Amino acid sequence: MATPETPAPRHIRLTSHAGGHGALPIQWGAATPVERGPIVGTTTKRAHRNVIGTHSGSYSVYRALAVAAGALSREHRADLTNTSPTDTIGPYPQWSEPGKIVSLDPWGATVSEVFAAELAAGYDIRPTIAVTKAHVILPEVIEAIQKGRLKADGNILLEGGAACVTKAAIEPVWWLPGVAKRFGCSESDLRRVLFEETGGMYPELVTRSDLEVFLPPIGGQTVYIFGNPHDLANPEVELTARVHDECNGSDVFGSDICTCRPYLTHAIEECIQGAQRGGVGLVSYSRKEGRALGEVTKFLVYNARKRQVGGDTADQYFARTECVAGVQDMRFQELMPDVLHWLGVKKIHRLVSMSNMKYDAITGSGIEVGVRVDIPEDLIPADARVEMDAKKAAGYFTPGVVPDAEALKQTKGRTL
Ligand SMILES: [Zn+2]
Repeated sequence: MATPETPAPRHIRLTSHAGGHGALPIQWGAATPVERGPIVGTTTKRAHRNVIGTHSGSYSVYRALAVAAGALSREHRADLTNTSPTDTIGPYPQWSEPGKIVSLDPWGATVSEVFAAELAAGYDIRPTIAVTKAHVILPEVIEAIQKGRLKADGNILLEGGAACVTKAAIEPVWWLPGVAKRFGCSESDLRRVLFEETGGMYPELVTRSDLEVFLPPIGGQTVYIFGNPHDLANPEVELTARVHDECNGSDVFGSDICTCRPYLTHAIEECIQGAQRGGVGLVSYSRKEGRALGEVTKFLVYNARKRQVGGDTADQYFARTECVAGVQDMRFQELMPDVLHWLGVKKIHRLVSMSNMKYDAITGSGIEVGVRVDIPEDLIPADARVEMDAKKAAGYFTPGVVPDAEALKQTKGRTL
């Protein structure tokens, strides 16, 4: 029996049905926001929804917790006063080139401007991209100043070591027909597998083929821009760029089993130098922890590597990952270039990455790449040699020697 303190149980809708009232159509890839239509993932007015899933990626689960705990009203609507981007990104021709962008909403940063009429009409339209400015202070950059490799210029790099950046946070917005095409599978197979492998989390994947856009519950990405963001779209301006996949253990905590943080900070140094030469720098950081396998799998692999007979050798590096995870890598760089096309990038003059998978994805999407910049030898921690040699042998770019099978057996890491 419901009392005023305990509200009556709400009717649960397992899935919605096509032909609802008031949902605005989405024409993915249309040239103007009016033709394209807004992304509406609100849970308050369900009739307005024109996508599967909800906003904020994996944080949608925390929002549910906040509602369950009584800390957040279901009816809350964001007050977007003064939240607009600090720099205008686009629109660029790539935004409406067929199939160029399928995993983010290029209009996601400017919804309060381009969909002002729909917002005024009562649609709960939320930004999926936010653009702001920041000062970033890294000990490696301060050290580079002390050693004379970097010089403060009072604009891009301040005395004391703060680098001035524009940064943008981007949530995933998947246009399912385009995502399926990137992975070479049918849209219906993609929908079915997404439904089944998430334990049936989103029934509309299989019941609402008319809804083509999915807001997946995964991490997004953040871009850090050194210099003028508008220069990213000008192929005449030298662009230094790194596309980096999250590695919390190294990036934040300084673990020495891989080269993630040293490569990231080296890229930031390169970006600052490039911007100071009159160019522009870009670091795109994707939440794909542990090759998108997650940290639990990653740490299990570390143990398997260190405990195997013969110790942690480069020749067994990929095999140990595959034993635990079933694959060597789950990052799938197919969607990664979308953010570059959102920024209007046509040419990367200096790509600070040795990954053949990232290089192939970027060039395969139509972006020209000039020089590939490898990590300086003295930045590779001793225990990370195993990974570095294994990757070089597997096709990573290196201007140096590619280790052969015998050499891979000799590259050995620490024991536990
Ligand atoms: Zn790492």
